[in-house]
This record gives sequence, C-alpha cells and structure tokens, in this order.
Amino acid sequence: MGIDGFAFWQWHQASQNFSIHGELCKLAGYDFDEVQCLTQVNQVRGLFHPDDLERSVAIIRHHAHHNTPIHLSFRLQRKTGGYMWVTTMANSLRDDSGIITDIVGVAFDASALHRTQEALRTAELRLQRIMNACNDGIWEWDVINDRMECSDRVMQHLGFNSYDEIALGAKNALQGWTRRIHAEDYPGFRKAVRKTYEEQSTFDVAYRVADRDGIYRWVRTRAVGGYDELGQLMVISGTNIDITEIKLAQDRMERARDDAESANLSKSKFLSGMSQELRTPMNAILGYAQLFEFDTNLTSQQRTNVREIRKAGEHLIQLIDDVLDLSKIESGNVNLTLEPVNIPDIARDCVALSQPQSSALGISFNTEIDESEDLIALCDRVRLKQVLLNLFSNGIKYNRTAGWVNVKIFVLDEDQVCISVEDNGYGISEAKQAELFQPFNRLGAEKTAIEGSGVGLVITKSLVEMMGGTISVYSQQDIGSCFEIHLPRCESFADDVSLSIDSIIDENKTFSLDLQSPKKILFIEDSAANARLMSKLFHHINNLALEVADEPLLGVYKARTEKPDVLLLDLAENESDTLEVIKILNSDSDTKSIPKLAFVNGASRAQEQKLAELGIVSLLSKPINIGQLMNALQRVLK
Ligand code: ADP
Repeated sequence: MGIDGFAFWQWHQASQNFSIHGELCKLAGYDFDEVQCLTQVNQVRGLFHPDDLERSVAIIRHHAHHNTPIHLSFRLQRKTGGYMWVTTMANSLRDDSGIITDIVGVAFDASALHRTQEALRTAELRLQRIMNACNDGIWEWDVINDRMECSDRVMQHLGFNSYDEIALGAKNALQGWTRRIHAEDYPGFRKAVRKTYEEQSTFDVAYRVADRDGIYRWVRTRAVGGYDELGQLMVISGTNIDITEIKLAQDRMERARDDAESANLSKSKFLSGMSQELRTPMNAILGYAQLFEFDTNLTSQQRTNVREIRKAGEHLIQLIDDVLDLSKIESGNVNLTLEPVNIPDIARDCVALSQPQSSALGISFNTEIDESEDLIALCDRVRLKQVLLNLFSNGIKYNRTAGWVNVKIFVLDEDQVCISVEDNGYGISEAKQAELFQPFNRLGAEKTAIEGSGVGLVITKSLVEMMGGTISVYSQQDIGSCFEIHLPRCESFADDVSLSIDSIIDENKTFSLDLQSPKKILFIEDSAANARLMSKLFHHINNLALEVADEPLLGVYKARTEKPDVLLLDLAENESDTLEVIKILNSDSDTKSIPKLAFVNGASRAQEQKLAELGIVSLLSKPINIGQLMNALQRVLK
C-alpha cells in the first residue's frame, strides 16, 4: 500500500542495504520491480543529481555527529531523463552505545513546492531590482513588533550605506528614524502617523531629517496603513523621496518673488508719492497759464506761447495720472465695482465725450449697436468708460485725414458682449503688434507730433482682464486696426439693477430670480442695521427666503440645522470672527459644500486668492450693490 508521491525508506548501516516502499519512485517513472532492485545505497546514490550529492552527504554526516534531524532536498533522476525535486526528512535508530544502526525516513515529491519557492525567489529578486533602480526609499513598519524593514535607499538618502552600523541601528525601529527628524517638523510627522492610527487615512508629509553629518535634508514620506478585520493598525508601508533640491529651488523662487514684490511695492510707493508731488506745482503752472490767457494786454504771439505752456502742462498731468493709474494696477490696489452695466449707454457717453477730438481732426465716428438682444455685461462702469475712451482716442489719433472710426456692440456666443473699435488709420505692422501692451512703448509714435504716454493700452488690457474680459487686436499697416473687447454677459433681470433699495421698497415692487425652486439664504451678520436692510431687500424677492443669524456661533448652528442653499457673510465688519466661522463650516462635511458669498471692503489679489481657497465663490462690494448681489446669487443657485 502506498500513498501517492511518498516513500518510506530504511538504510541499514551494517549491511549498507537500502529498502524503499511507497509510490514516490513511480512518479519518477520506475516500476515496482525496478524499485525492489534498489537494495544498495550506492545504487540510490547513482540516482542523485551530481550537484546535490556532496551537500546531501555533508548533511547526513553532520546528523551522524551531532544528531541533528535530516531535512534534505535534492534532485532525483527520472527514468526518462531529467530530474524531479524530492524532499526527505529522516532520523536514525541507535544501539545502546549510541552507534547508528539504521537511518529511516520519509521522502516526498517537492516539485510543486520547489516551483513556488522559485517563483517567490524570482519575485523577490524582481522587487529588489526595482527598489534598487528607483530613487525612492521603500519601507514598512510592523506596528505590533515595532520592526522597521526598509530598502537601502532609505538610509542612502541620509548619506549612510547599508552596512553602516548607525544605519542598521536606525533601521530596526521607528524611533531610529524619528529621532533624526527636525524638532520643528516632528509634531507634523507625529500628527500624520496618529491620523493613520485613528482615522485609517493615508499620509503625505514633508519634513527635515538629519543626515549622517547632522545636516538636514528634506524628505517627503507617503504612506498607507494595513489594518486587521477589527480595524486595528498592523503595518504602515510607505515611500520616501529626497526633495531637498526641490525645496531649495522653491526657497530660492520664493525669495526672488518676495524681493520682486517688495521692489515693486517700493516702486509703486515711489511713483505715487512722486506723482502727488508733481501734481501740486503743475496745478499752479496750469492755473496761472489759464489766468494769463484771459489777460487782454498780451500780444497774440504771447497768447499763443501761453497756450503752448497750458497744453504741455495738461499733457504732463495726463501723463502723471496714467503713471499713477498703472502703478496702482500693478500693485493690485485697484478696486473694481462689478455690476451689470448696459454697454450701449456707456458707449454712447464715450462717443459724445470723444466728439470734440474727432471733429477737430476731421474723423467721422459711427456706431452700430445690435439692440435686438440685451447688451448687459458684468463690469465696472467707470473703468469701462476709461477703457473705451482710450480705444476711441487711439482710433482718432492714429488715423489719416478724413478717416473713420466704427464702434460695434453685439452679443457673441450667447454669454459675451463684444465691443469692437475699428479704424482705417495707420494700422500696426505685425512686428510692432508683438510689442503692443508694453508700458511706455509707443511703437515709434514718440517720433511723431501725436501726443501720448504709451501706457493707455497697458492699463486698458489690465482693466479688461480684471473685469473678467479679454482684449484682442487685428491690424494691418496702412489699412487700419480693430481692437475687440469681450466681457461676460449678464442675465436679463439686470434691468432691475438700476433700482436702489429705497426705490424697490417705495414702489412696493417684487421680483424673482430665474430658479428651479425657491431657495434659502443664511446671512451671518452681527450689525443689526445691515441685517435689517437685507431683510427689507429680500422681502421683495419672491423665490428667495432670507434667514439672519445675528451672532457667529448662532450662524454655525443655523447653517448645520437649517441647511441653507447659500451662505452670505460679512467680511467688511468683523473679519477675524467671520473667517473663524468659515473655517468651522469648512471642517464640517454637512456645511462645507454650501456656496459662500462674502461682502468685503475691497480685497487685494492675494486676499482674493486666500478667500477663494476658503471656498468663497464670490466677493461682493460694500456698500451693497443689489445688481451685483442678485447676479452672484443667480450664478450660484442656478
Ligand atoms: P499712447 O499714449 O502712445 O497712445 P497707447 O498705450 O494707447 O499709448 O498705445 C500704444 C501705441 O500703440 C501707440 O503709441 C501707437 O503707436 C499704437 N496704437 C495704439 N492704438 C492704435 C491704433 N488704433 N492705430 C494705430 N496704432 C495704434
């Protein structure tokens, strides 16, 4: 009786006889008779792979001397050629004086086991090769036994080699690594590990670690925990990258940016101070020049001279204003009031204002307005006027005798209003177009008698972009130019926008936003007067309900319990309290996604960015501008 794949063998020492029972040899292709004939140990030996023989003999010899159990794997020759892996385990029988009389054992087919071991070895080698090839350090911390396994690269990042005693010491426990972390960065690292413990979160931290010479290097560690069925953390596995070079480059960049920003700030301060200083004497010069012009005692030549002084002075004032404006824009100190503006109204005003200049130069001015659709855009009406006056003035100035300027206003792609200002003047060559929008670059016009400062278009472009629009140019030398502005178009309810709060209230008029269903707004505002004003306003809007919280904590409570569709906050009053409220609401998954709008007293670009990061979707100006508020609400609620 045999068990498949097993054999029981006995080797009698005195006779050197060998006997085998079992089916193992069948697997190697031998039949019963052939196995029965294997009676001498030398015959059995002949079936071993020559390379395994010496090792096998050594193991048996060791057993004889030290009585260690025999556990041996070797290759057994198959009858048909080739070998199969066999594992045998054996022990010996000894007489009373301890001399071995027999060795008996069991052997079994180990081919499958061997194949698995081979596959494991190949996988291990592959992993090792990959780990060596990549620059990341790979590690795993056995939380239960506080054992750290890591690839050589982990320690190489700190300048150790894998045989380094210190490195090996540090490899054994997490403490070996953490005691090298910079004191300032350690709390952040600990917090990340603790979160992985408590919240099963992955972590990603950058921190400094002392290298072999005690010099700090930046390392970024990303890791994930492995948990048992009860959610208990068992291991943390992760990778380390050396980000020292990236950090240094970042520091250099930040320093350069700070330097540039502070240089820019000093430049702006200098310019605005300088402009103010220049304005005072210029006012005196212009004032006296005008007085002189009234003096009837002057000869006509003298009057002409005085007029020249006045004109030059006016030009200088314009130049000062432009420079001041530019420096304000560059330093982010321009606050726009964005509101729905009826573009044709503004354009007509500007055409009227440009008329004296165009008549004086004999330029005809045409306007084509496509009134079939609402031409309302979200922009700052004063700044838009400045933009249009500059484009109109350029069209007139850089034009030929009896030339024309054509202004067209129309809707583009449904959501934009386009204003194009075309002329048939000198045009701008392709090479010069590349230099357009550079401050003080007049593209050669400085050699002509045409007055200008070379900053108008720079200001124009910045203002248009600040209003969320774009400007483009199409021009051909000696044929003409076309400047085109695109501004974001507003919803049609903007007709109501020109109404003041009082007029709405007086006329007892109500209106609705274009919404699928009625919505609820929560206004967190501790000024009772502002809250009253808003309540009055919302009383006139049919599909918006306003809830007021007159105290920040009450606001947080109401936001959680009443689930408003929009939160309205006032940063213009108690900014720090309101920011705190926003942070609390953002940390709560229930209130985090409620869109937030905030009133501000003008914000710099940096502030705007900070507020956007806090999830404020729209900044609203103060004093309140109803049109702007309704537009913002319409946008977030639609
Ligand atoms: P400036 O005060 O010189 O008019 P701008 O910034 O408004 O400054 O324009 C910069 C330059 O671009 C002008 O000096 C002129 O050379 C050129 N330019 C602007 N608009 C036109 C136009 N419509 N046709 C031809 N050239 C123009």
